[in-house]
Amino acid sequence: MNQKPVRVRFAPSPTGGLHLGGVRTVLFNYLFAKHHNGTFVLRIEDTDQTRYVPGAEEYIVNCLEWCGLAPDESPQKGGNYGPYRQSERKPMYRQYAEQLVAQGNAYYAFDTPQELEQMREDFKSPENPSPQYGHAVRMKMRNSISLGAAETEKLLAEGVPHVIRIKMPEDTSISFTDMIRGEVSFSSNTVDDKVLLKADGMPTYHLAVVVDDYLMKISHAFRGEEWLPSAPVHLLLWEYLGWKADMPQWAHLPLILKPDGNGKLSKRDGDRLGFPVYAMNWTDPKTGDLTQGFRERGFLPEAFVNMLAMIGWNDGSGQEIFSLTELVEKFDIGRVHKGGAKFDFEKAKWFNHQYIQQKSNDELAALLQPVLLAKNIAADAAYVAKVCALVKERCAFVNEIWDNGFFFFEAPASPDFSPVLPKWNDEKHGFFGKWIEILRGSSSWDAATLEADFKELAANSAIKPGELQLPFRIMLVGGKFGPAVFDIAATIGKEQTIARIESSLLLIKNAIAS
Ligand code: GLU
Repeated sequence: MNQKPVRVRFAPSPTGGLHLGGVRTVLFNYLFAKHHNGTFVLRIEDTDQTRYVPGAEEYIVNCLEWCGLAPDESPQKGGNYGPYRQSERKPMYRQYAEQLVAQGNAYYAFDTPQELEQMREDFKSPENPSPQYGHAVRMKMRNSISLGAAETEKLLAEGVPHVIRIKMPEDTSISFTDMIRGEVSFSSNTVDDKVLLKADGMPTYHLAVVVDDYLMKISHAFRGEEWLPSAPVHLLLWEYLGWKADMPQWAHLPLILKPDGNGKLSKRDGDRLGFPVYAMNWTDPKTGDLTQGFRERGFLPEAFVNMLAMIGWNDGSGQEIFSLTELVEKFDIGRVHKGGAKFDFEKAKWFNHQYIQQKSNDELAALLQPVLLAKNIAADAAYVAKVCALVKERCAFVNEIWDNGFFFFEAPASPDFSPVLPKWNDEKHGFFGKWIEILRGSSSWDAATLEADFKELAANSAIKPGELQLPFRIMLVGGKFGPAVFDIAATIGKEQTIARIESSLLLIKNAIAS
C-alpha cells in the first residue's frame, strides 16, 4: 500500500440510468474510503457531449443519496479539487496533450471522418475486419508524423481541424498490478492510437481520466472490468506525463452477469426476466420510457446495498447480513473475486425479506403509510403497526404488506366462497347466526377469547371447528389466505367482523339459490 491519504473516485458518465454494477462500484469505493479514513469523490465524466443525457447527473446523485453512499466531494458539495464536472475542466487538459506532442508521445492528426472511413475500407482483410488507427497505418494517414514539421505547421496555422492521438509504441509489453487480478500485461500492439484531445478541444475519456486522477490526487481507482482494455493507454499516459510515482493503484471489478447465459447483465435482461437493473426509476428524456428501479420495486436501501456487497465479495466467515458500518469495518478489496458473478434476483429478494423482518413494526408502518395514502386510506399508526406485525413474516417488500393485509383496511370486494359452497348447509348458516349474537355480546375482544368462544359454539352445534374456520376466514379476508383468523377478527374489531359475516351470509345464500 502506498502511504498517500486514501482518495477514491466514482467517475460515471451521465448517460442514463445507474446500473446495479455501477452502484456496486460506488459501494466498493465508499467502503474502501471509509475503511481507510479516506475521501470518496464523485466526478462527472461528461466530455462526450454526444452521449450526454440531461437529468442523468442529478439522478446519479439521488441514487447515491438513497443508498446512503453520499460522496465527500462532488459537483454539488464542492471540495478542494474542483470543478468536479469534466466539461467545466476543459481548459485544463490541452496543455497535457501538447506536452505529449512536444515529447513525441502523441501527434496531431488531420484526417477527416471520410478519410478514416476510407482507411477502414482499404485495410480491411479477413484477418483484420476492423482495422484501427495505429502503427500499421499511421504513416499512411494525414498526421504530424507522416506529414512532417513544415506541413503540420502550415495546417495548424490555417486552423485545419485536428485531434491529438497517443503514439502507441510497437511490440512493447505494458503491465501493472491490479489489486484484484494481480499482475496484468498487455501487448502494445493490441491498442490503437487513441484520440486524447478532440477537434473541439474537449479531452476524451482517456486523457481526462488520467489528468483528473492525477490532479485530484486519487490514490486508488476502482472501476468495472470493462475498462481493463483501456488500462494500457492510461498506464502509458501516467508514464509519459512523468506522473508514474503518483499513479493510483487500480482494481478492476468483476462484472455482474446475466442469471441465464453469458455476459454482462443488461437492462434488457431485467426487462426480459422481470426484475430491475437500475437503482431507481429512470425515465429516458428522449423516449419517455420508464425503467423501474430497485427502490420503486420495494427494496430497502440497506438491503440493496448489503446484497450488492455480497456480489463478488465476502469476508470468508459465511456471514451474509452486514450493516453498512460492519461492511466498512470488514471490507477488503483484495477479497473481491476475479470472476464475474451471476445475478440472482431471488437472492436479492431474500436480502430484502431479511431487512423487512429486522425493521420494527412502527418503522414498517411508516413505510406503508404512503402506500395507504395512495389508496386514500387513512389509518392510525398504531393500527398499521399491528397489521405489519401480523403479516411481515410473509413479506419481502413493503408493498407486499398491502398484498398480504389489504383486508385489514377494507372489506374484501368479492369474496370467493367456492371452496365452502359444496359443503354449505343450514347448520352452518345457523352457526354463523349464533356466532354474530355471541360477538355482539362479547365484552373482551382478543384473539384467544374469540377462538375459545368459537370452538365452544362449534362443539355445542356439533360441527367440527375445522369445517367452520375456512368459511369464517373467507368472510373476513375474501379467500384462503392471511394470518391466523382470530388474529384478524381481533384486529379489525367487532363492528367489521360482524358486518363481514352478515354480508357474507347473504352472498352465500344468493350463491346457493342461483
Ligand atoms: N467514465 C467512466 C464510466 O462511465 C469511468 C471509468 C473509470 O472509472 O475510469 O464508467
